[in-house]
Amino acid sequence: MPTEPETPVHVHSVQEEYFYMMVHPCACGGPWQGESQGVQEPAGNVLHHLRATCFACGKERTFHFQLAERPGPADPIRAVNPTDEASRALDLADWIRLAQFYLARIERLAESVERAQSLLDARQCLEEARKFFGPEDEAPPASALWSDDSRRRAREQPDAFRRSAIEAMLARMPPLERLRQADSLDQKTFKQGVRERAKQRVNRTWWQFWRLFRRRK
Ligand SMILES: [Zn+2]
Repeated sequence: MPTEPETPVHVHSVQEEYFYMMVHPCACGGPWQGESQGVQEPAGNVLHHLRATCFACGKERTFHFQLAERPGPADPIRAVNPTDEASRALDLADWIRLAQFYLARIERLAESVERAQSLLDARQCLEEARKFFGPEDEAPPASALWSDDSRRRAREQPDAFRRSAIEAMLARMPPLERLRQADSLDQKTFKQGVRERAKQRVNRTWWQFWRLFRRRK
């Protein structure tokens, strides 16, 4: 069957492209490995064409993305979406799932820098999730869930999909700037910093609280 040309997926960053590929694995379930990337800039648009190969079965696929702005060297580390605009590439359920993945990963990681990176990704995914809620919304609005699968996941985990739960989780996590700082430091400096800060740490409870967001089977 011939492949139809795909409409580019609108993203705010290269990091969001990466998350999109994670959420849309190969039909066999295998993860994509980026092989090569083409860049086009017609009429002020930035288009990325990312050729990827399935790590499990070797199938090839090209992803087409349109970036909101050209990425620059001054962009914050691993930035996902600096705007208040909700994602157009992934829906609320996708962001919750990604946050759960990164939070669960923290427990398996031994190196503190890796843990900080995972926490940074988790925090940004929760921030993207929050952008789908209006000021009056506690439950997810219909516009935040784009597929039957997403609606089913929201029904099955009503606690994790409440706006107040997402906000409470964010309030208990270290702030974005601190996580970015940790991400950019080398291992030794980071460990020293953690020891110095341990005395003045007040938000001890975030670590326990994330269990609410743990991935369900
Ligand atoms: Zn595959």
